[in-house]
Amino acid sequence: MNTEASKETSLQNGHARAEAEAPCKKRQDYLEWPEYFMAVAFLSAQRSKDPNSQVGACIVNQENKIVGIGYNGMPNDCNDDLLPWARSSSDWLDTKYPYVCHAELNAIMNKNSADVKGCTMYVALFPCNECAKLIIQAGIKDVIYLSDKYHGRKEFTASRRLLDMAGIEYKKFQPKRGKVVIDFGSIDLSGNQGAAGSSAS
Ligand SMILES: [Zn+2]
Repeated sequence: MNTEASKETSLQNGHARAEAEAPCKKRQDYLEWPEYFMAVAFLSAQRSKDPNSQVGACIVNQENKIVGIGYNGMPNDCNDDLLPWARSSSDWLDTKYPYVCHAELNAIMNKNSADVKGCTMYVALFPCNECAKLIIQAGIKDVIYLSDKYHGRKEFTASRRLLDMAGIEYKKFQPKRGKVVIDFGSIDLSGNQGAAGSSAS
């Protein structure tokens, strides 16, 4: 090897070493667990056909694994084109209330584990009294909610009474970010994707 070639190789090696040693720290703006679970609840709510209120719930076990997801909707095999979605009517039977299953009920019933004992429920709205009963009976240990907009209604006073008696903790979620955006186009725009040797994970 002549001197010039040797110098060049040495430069290349040095360059490669500098690249290898360059700091490559993990992303800092990744979703933290609570935001992730609440976002899953909100994404699930997008499935709801209720024209006025879309609520989602996400049940998580003590290993941070999701074991149930649900949103408000009509019971299985009951035609949601035929059942009413109205909030008020002269006849209660013509409102949605006797029929609709709340997100909490569906999340519990949809569980993919033997039970949800000791789990945490993330839910957009503070649970009503009927859902509080289900949460207690299912053995869920705490509830993280985002909105308590119906705080003053009797159903919610009853709900708090039950949850307090049963020793179930409930806490308002304090998001660190105002929104989580899902952009299907972003996978093609990201500079990190498609680079030689990069992993898709
Ligand atoms: Zn409810």
